[in-house]
Amino acid sequence: MMKKDYYEILGVSRRASLEEIKKAYRKLAIKYHPDKNLDNKKKAEEKFKEAAEAYEVLSDEKKRSRYDKFGHSGVKGNSNSYGAGMNMEDIFTNFGDIFSDAFGENFSSFGFGKSSQQKTIRGSDLRIRVKLTLSEIANGTEKKVKVKRLKIAKGIKTKICSSCNGSGEIVRITNTILGRMQTSSQCNSCHGTGKNIENIPYGANKYGLIKEEELVNIKVPSGATEGIHLRIPGKGNEAPFGGITGNLIVLIEEYPHPELKREGCNLHYDLYISFSDAVLGNYFEVPTVNGKARIKVDPGTQSGKTLRLKNKGIPNVERHGNGSLLIHINVWTPRKINNEQKKFFEIMRKDENFIPRPKNSEKSFFDKVREMFS
Ligand SMILES: [Zn+2]
Repeated sequence: MMKKDYYEILGVSRRASLEEIKKAYRKLAIKYHPDKNLDNKKKAEEKFKEAAEAYEVLSDEKKRSRYDKFGHSGVKGNSNSYGAGMNMEDIFTNFGDIFSDAFGENFSSFGFGKSSQQKTIRGSDLRIRVKLTLSEIANGTEKKVKVKRLKIAKGIKTKICSSCNGSGEIVRITNTILGRMQTSSQCNSCHGTGKNIENIPYGANKYGLIKEEELVNIKVPSGATEGIHLRIPGKGNEAPFGGITGNLIVLIEEYPHPELKREGCNLHYDLYISFSDAVLGNYFEVPTVNGKARIKVDPGTQSGKTLRLKNKGIPNVERHGNGSLLIHINVWTPRKINNEQKKFFEIMRKDENFIPRPKNSEKSFFDKVREMFS
């Protein structure tokens, strides 16, 4: 089946601003919200997901420019988590900000997927950042983080909403030329929950929620990458009236290591050795994510050689095993030498016809190194 054009789905021009895209998406999201289309839920859900997928790409500058250049194939990688396979809860979680604007403060969504009239409120997700060292990323870690969560205040009493008698909706009967028409809409005073709070304790908001600091334990698996999100269910804001507690979304960030450079699962280290060590060989200590490692540099080692320490990199989350620690050897040329050393180098120079001069057709030393590690 041909996939529909994202701009077409949202009904915006190819030059639409981010603001216009947001607006168009929000309009569609409200229009096709499954709870507003109970008689044609399946179709509405499809449209809703389609719009979410289009928005997911067009609201992201990088993805949008890839889509503009290469079409759907340019953004294929993202669309497996969104679009057809995306579940409704993910859509609400990912675009929570837009939905909280559209459906009321504090709540990212109202009771999607529930067929009864009374709505279940879902508490909003909380987002925090956690910064980790390279060694914490390599080994996995547990962090205790202070989180300010909205919780149901103690001693709260709820009562049946008097505006709707607990049904969660207001039914109006109007006389029209076609006869009596019955329309129903969500009750405003209880937000469709059918319940109200009788006694709002001091410090709590109108939903009876109060902000409390809590220490949350976060388990970070080894091999995390800067920019990934961990989702901790049930550690977001609580929801009133027996609703579902939101999630805590943890954004992982990485402290740069003072000596090791990370590239995916591999680590790189620049080792500087002296000219004499390069000629005679020696042992060296190099940093790893877990303390030091001892390596041997053979006599006659060339500058630019790379040594590989297998499994001394970062664990690969998708495959088994670790990346490597790649040690790049640089021979340090002495800048200050005394007369005696100068004499030594002058003697050396007389014999220096041993430097190889590769022909163009031959692979250079660096080509060989590159092949070894590609
Ligand atoms: Zn009500």
